[in-house]
Amino acid sequence: MLRGFSAELRRLLLLLTTGLVIGFWTGHMGWALFAASAFYVTYTLRQIYHFNRWLISSADLPPPEATRFWGEVYNRIYSMQRRQEKEKQRLEAVVNRVQDTTSALRDGVVILDRRGYLDWWNPAAQRLLGFRASDQGESVINFVRHPRFVDYMEEGQYGEAVEIPSPRFNDKQLQIQITRFGNAERLMIVRDVTQLHKLEQMRKNFVANVSHELRTPLTVLTGYLETLNDADLGPKWDKPLKQMDQQARRMSMLVSDLLILSKLETAEPGSVQRPVPLAPLLSNIQAEAQALSGDLNHSITLECEADLELLGSEKELHSAFSNLLSNAIKYTPAGGKITLRAKRHGPEIHVSVQDNGPGFESKHIAYLTQRFYRVEASRNSSTGGAGLGLAIVKHILLRHEGELQISSEVGKGSVFTCVFNQTVEPPPA
Ligand code: ADP
Repeated sequence: MLRGFSAELRRLLLLLTTGLVIGFWTGHMGWALFAASAFYVTYTLRQIYHFNRWLISSADLPPPEATRFWGEVYNRIYSMQRRQEKEKQRLEAVVNRVQDTTSALRDGVVILDRRGYLDWWNPAAQRLLGFRASDQGESVINFVRHPRFVDYMEEGQYGEAVEIPSPRFNDKQLQIQITRFGNAERLMIVRDVTQLHKLEQMRKNFVANVSHELRTPLTVLTGYLETLNDADLGPKWDKPLKQMDQQARRMSMLVSDLLILSKLETAEPGSVQRPVPLAPLLSNIQAEAQALSGDLNHSITLECEADLELLGSEKELHSAFSNLLSNAIKYTPAGGKITLRAKRHGPEIHVSVQDNGPGFESKHIAYLTQRFYRVEASRNSSTGGAGLGLAIVKHILLRHEGELQISSEVGKGSVFTCVFNQTVEPPPA
């Protein structure tokens, strides 16, 4: 640029010198300098005119012929344009590749803007959710109206996916997971989980049917065992009969727990929604637990704040709290201390069962609510359960917008807290 510029300066100086010489020679210095300057200005204007025309009309064409200075300006702009063009083509190729990849995906991909309006989607999303090109800029809730999805969108807690029936096909089940990105935009991944859903349904039905079918033979067996126990068969039958009776009872408990679980899994959440006063419920559970403790003589105390209510099913809540309390009795040695508490914590209600039993290491906590999980120590003991109690509690809490928090210390005891995040409207006056 500098070399072209000094050449241009030299050209101007030469022109002015020529003007000076002609002016001196003709005696019209002023006119001669004016003519030289006018010539230069006209020439420069002409270059600017061509330059402008090239910029406007022929950005893709090579630059026109020009002097060294203007030639350099042209060439620099031309190579800048080439570079930009190449970059644009590269970016277009990247965008096309991303679009091709997402088009080939079997999962639906939808981009929502910060207001939750449709911005872009791939063909799979179009097929699963039934969008059309004209729907761009519409709110996604206009197309996916299922209450679970609407709540998911409005609450903005996208830690887990939500499962809903497809708004387009009656027999399809979709799993939708939203992730935030960029400037509060949202990426929505839609998966067809119909097969998984069917398998899960088959599993639930299988467990429910088998448990149901096992009930009758078990009743017959326990009936005969009772008769045999009453008949005096002699001392050598005492031990086998006692063990058979114990195992038959254990199996009945397992079957009834499995039936409870499958009912909880299949029933729609919130099918029974009534305000349940906690004080009388917990006081009944405390009395039942004291009877269960019997000769073990645990000290079971109840601390319940006045006027606490939960919205839900009294039967299910009773089952959840008494499961926790019967565990505390099962695992706390005779004479141990057990406290049943219900308290308000800001907008939440906490119902907890604390014991001073053996406790367990924190590594077990994540697995305790899985079916059939038992801490090794209790697996080897005679305390009996099948590892379904806490799974039942977890399911009941899920159906009541609650969660189970567990803390424990080996040798000191455990606290199982049901945290309910629900507000009960006061009854109309
Ligand atoms: P189970 O029928 O075996 O009691 P649960 O699902 O109710 O099944 O409990 C799972 C496991 O959690 C139990 O096997 C036991 O090891 C442990 N557990 C539950 N409650 C307590 C408690 N209060 N103290 C110590 N361990 C407990």
